[in-house]
Amino acid sequence: ESKRMVNIKLLIEDILQFLYPSFADVDIKITLMLDDNLQVEANKDELKQVFVNVLMNSVDALRQKEKPREIKVSAENSFEEEIKVTIANNGPAIPLSVRETIFEPFFTTKDLGTGIGLYVCRNIIEKHNGSLDCLSNDQETTFLINLPMKTL
Ligand code: ADP
Ligand code: MG
Repeated sequence: ESKRMVNIKLLIEDILQFLYPSFADVDIKITLMLDDNLQVEANKDELKQVFVNVLMNSVDALRQKEKPREIKVSAENSFEEEIKVTIANNGPAIPLSVRETIFEPFFTTKDLGTGIGLYVCRNIIEKHNGSLDCLSNDQETTFLINLPMKTL
C-alpha cells in the first residue's frame, strides 16, 4: 500500500497555502494551533482529500455569514498513540436533525454541491482506523478527526 509517515502540521500548512487563492474573496481569519512532530502513518493523498473538503466546507459555511469570520485548526497528540485534529468555523449551526445525515452520500444543501465530500472523508478516516465527527452549536461548527499514529 502507499502508506507512509505524514507530518500533519506540514500537510495542513501546505493545503492552506494551496487553498488561499480560492477564498481570497472572503475575509476569513485563520488561526492555526498545530503541534510539531505529529506523524501519522497514512496515505497522504487521501488525507489531503479529507482536509481539503472539510476546510472548503468551512469556507462555504462562512460565505453566508457577515464578519467576523473565523476558522481555527488545531492538531495535537491526544492520547499516547493518537492524534486529534479539529477544524472549527463560526458559521451557522448544523441542525441536530441532519448532523449525521451530512455524512451520507449525496446529501447537500448547496446549489452546486455533490454531497459526496463528507461521505468520502469519513470512509478515508475509518480506513485509517480513525473517526470523523461533527459538533455544532450557535457559536461554532467543529469537525473532529481522531487518527491513530500507526495503522499497523
Ligand atoms: P457538499 O460540500 O458537496 O455539499 P459534503 O459532503 O462536503 O458535500 O457536505 C454535505 C453538507 O454538510 C453540506 O452541503 C452542508 O449542508 C453540510 N456541512 C458540511 N460542512 C459544514 C460546515 N462546516 N458548516 C455547516 N454545514 C456544513
Ligand atoms: Mg464538501
